[in-house]
Amino acid sequence: VKLSSSILAKLPPEVAGPKYDRAALKAGIVHFGVGNFHRSHQAVYLDDLFNAGLGHDWAIVGAGVFEGEKVGRGKLQEQDWLTTVVEQDAGHMSVRVTGVMIDFLMPGAAAAIIERLADPAIRIVSLTITEGGYFIDPASGVFNPTHPDIVADAQPEATPKTVFGIILAGLMRRRDDGIVPFTIMSCDNIPHNGHVTADGVIGLARLIDENLATWVSDNVAFPNGMVDRITPATTDRERGILSSAFGLDDNWPVFCEPFRQWVLEDRFTNGRPLLEKVGVQFVSDVAPYELMKIRILNGGHATIAYPAGLMDIHFVHEAMQEPLVRGFLDRLEHDEIIPTVPPVPDTVLEDYYQLIEHRFSNPKIGDTIRRLCLDGSNRQPKFIIPTIADRLKAGKGVAGLALESALWCRYCFGTTDSGVVIEPNDPSWDRLQTTARAAKDTPAAWLAMEDIYGDVGRSAPFVEAFAHALEALWADGARATLTRYLAGNL
Ligand code: NAD
Repeated sequence: VKLSSSILAKLPPEVAGPKYDRAALKAGIVHFGVGNFHRSHQAVYLDDLFNAGLGHDWAIVGAGVFEGEKVGRGKLQEQDWLTTVVEQDAGHMSVRVTGVMIDFLMPGAAAAIIERLADPAIRIVSLTITEGGYFIDPASGVFNPTHPDIVADAQPEATPKTVFGIILAGLMRRRDDGIVPFTIMSCDNIPHNGHVTADGVIGLARLIDENLATWVSDNVAFPNGMVDRITPATTDRERGILSSAFGLDDNWPVFCEPFRQWVLEDRFTNGRPLLEKVGVQFVSDVAPYELMKIRILNGGHATIAYPAGLMDIHFVHEAMQEPLVRGFLDRLEHDEIIPTVPPVPDTVLEDYYQLIEHRFSNPKIGDTIRRLCLDGSNRQPKFIIPTIADRLKAGKGVAGLALESALWCRYCFGTTDSGVVIEPNDPSWDRLQTTARAAKDTPAAWLAMEDIYGDVGRSAPFVEAFAHALEALWADGARATLTRYLAGNL
């Protein structure tokens, strides 16, 4: 059967549906970036809450700024904004249809989105717009107010095109109408994601009017949050599994692991759903949790991604079955990454790492190495380079992290060790590929990407270790280089 509101009462017996009356839901949240992760994470927490009979005035309205998002919107509209979420690991599979989204504004239709943002019923604006969506200069970690899209949105009478421009226009309407501003809640994998979002919105406001910037800074809350649930991109494989195993046809289901985590700061201007009832941890400071997650999990993903990519491995769990890749992860985490992570309340870091190793090995989730390799130009500066910087500052070794960086560089050359062409896999692919080609003979060329490496690229011990690793990768390939690294003689 084809998913829609009309079949919710007759879903297959193994498929759970909403236990609430969707027609009675009221919008409370506008979400930008309706991709896979939002639908496996925030939407699932809210679905649990609504199923418990709570918070029915916190339903989600989707929003976006890109033309390309019309495709996803169309798929969801055909099925009345419903999403099937499939959780899977070796011993477990559960399927549910979530119904917390009740509308999805036309992507890029700024006026209509701003109108909705001005509605007093909207009390939270949430974001999953990817690491690259925040206009952050990677090396300094600071908002870049000279980005042409931001400059354009700051012009008087401009129709805003960026998420920040549209949000700010919504906030200005509320200020003028005397309505309490909404909370802006980032759910992207960025250290201090609330601060980074504040920098963006306030930075843009400053270009328009200093008083506006001050008003936003005094009146709008930007809680930091740590979000976690491994969620691959949906392909025909996933649609096929759902259709053949359960007879349910969903245009755009989401497959993910059973694990999920959300740690959030309790700073909201205008109320929030009772998310603590459904497993969200509210804390006064998210920083230790997010540093642990970004370094050990996201840094761990980067660690396995590039060697596996160079070895032509397709799925993440297959990479974890390859002793060289798994060994590299284990060694790099224990020798260089975990020692840089400060203590986290109620958490044993080694247990956290073991859980991640288990999660990466999940044979059912179908996460791909290509997805993990995506967007290194935005991810390395958040997941790997700060760890290198901390180790250099402490005078500690960086041989493994230098090898990880060299593997990324080697990957961006654009062929695997067997000679298979790697299709563009980064918004800055052309630049990365050109630089990786130059680095084959002159490794320092790679680290001279100032906006990515900053000071780390000028550190003599790092430059030397990187050059050594890259030369080994070119001379002997990823397998032999990892073998030598694991034997302690790279
Ligand atoms: P996705 O590609 O399915 O969705 C990303 C959404 O962001 C799309 O709607 C896209 O149009 C929009 N977007 C991209 N660039 C943008 C920009 N510059 N401005 C505005 N919108 C933009 O990806 P996803 O799997 O949903 O992941 C999105 C983000 O969620 C990740 O980048 C990460 O920060 C966070 N996250 C993902 C996972 C995961 O496992 N997928 C886990 C934890 C956190």
